[in-house]
Amino acid sequence: MEPFDLTGKVAVVTGGNGGIGLAMARGLALAGASVIVVGRDLGKSERAVRELSTLGRAAHALQADLSDAIRCREMVAQAAAVRGRLDILVNNAGMSIRKPPQDYALEEWRAVIDTNLTGVFVCCQAAYPHLRAAGHGKIINIGSMMSIFGASHATPYSASKGAVVQLTRSLASAWARDNIQVNAVLPGWIDTDLTRRARAEVAGLQERVVARTPAGRWGVPGDLAGTAVFLASSASDFVTGAAVPVDGGYSIQA
Ligand code: NDP
Repeated sequence: MEPFDLTGKVAVVTGGNGGIGLAMARGLALAGASVIVVGRDLGKSERAVRELSTLGRAAHALQADLSDAIRCREMVAQAAAVRGRLDILVNNAGMSIRKPPQDYALEEWRAVIDTNLTGVFVCCQAAYPHLRAAGHGKIINIGSMMSIFGASHATPYSASKGAVVQLTRSLASAWARDNIQVNAVLPGWIDTDLTRRARAEVAGLQERVVARTPAGRWGVPGDLAGTAVFLASSASDFVTGAAVPVDGGYSIQA
């Protein structure tokens, strides 16, 4: 298992206090990494840290609203100072506002784009000197099925998640010679707070997802852990600029 070993590595997981982020944080901790979880809700992050600490690795919580570019930069600097290094950045924090495109206020559009796209870019930019100094680095950006498909009631979310894939490719090209690999993960429909809210609002969503997904089920956050470990480890050193669906086959269905 040596290619997947993360012992001694320090990972930042944004939105690592719940849902998909916490599941990926667990995976990274089990593989040996010290994990720093970041979210707006410090109490929730501290609960996640207590759980991660039981896996035998140091874990830390940082509070930041990543829709604020200044806080993104401060957060990365604080994270790099925790253990004096930074090896892995998982840009997972994300949100959506559901409504028809004609009804979005500009502030709503900006709130989604600032969190899901600009925050990701600024965190990557802020992490770059630390990863370069370490001589290697792994960045994992979380996209979505809406990086590929349109969605009528998620215009800024779709725009942000499509752009995350192109951002990933651009950074991967730029930083490959620095031995920094930048990849995206595109989760299918995963049972979390985010999609629980969508299911409460959209009649029949639960059944439609099961019917379209070849695996015949919704994903669970733990389905993302293995891919996160792979993309964070030396096992993926020749993988960069990829957008990996983890979707039970949802994206291969016509
Ligand atoms: P959750 O709503 O369960 O978790 C979202 C996480 O992001 C929370 O930890 C939240 O922490 C954090 N977060 C949200 N906004 C901010 C912000 N402004 N600053 C800092 N942290 C923030 O969602 P999921 O686990 O489902 O989603 C995680 C990622 O996966 C998102 O990028 C989402 O778009 C993506 N995704 C999810 C899918 C699914 O089916 N669930 C499918 C495809 C993609 P806090 O509240 O403390 O700020």
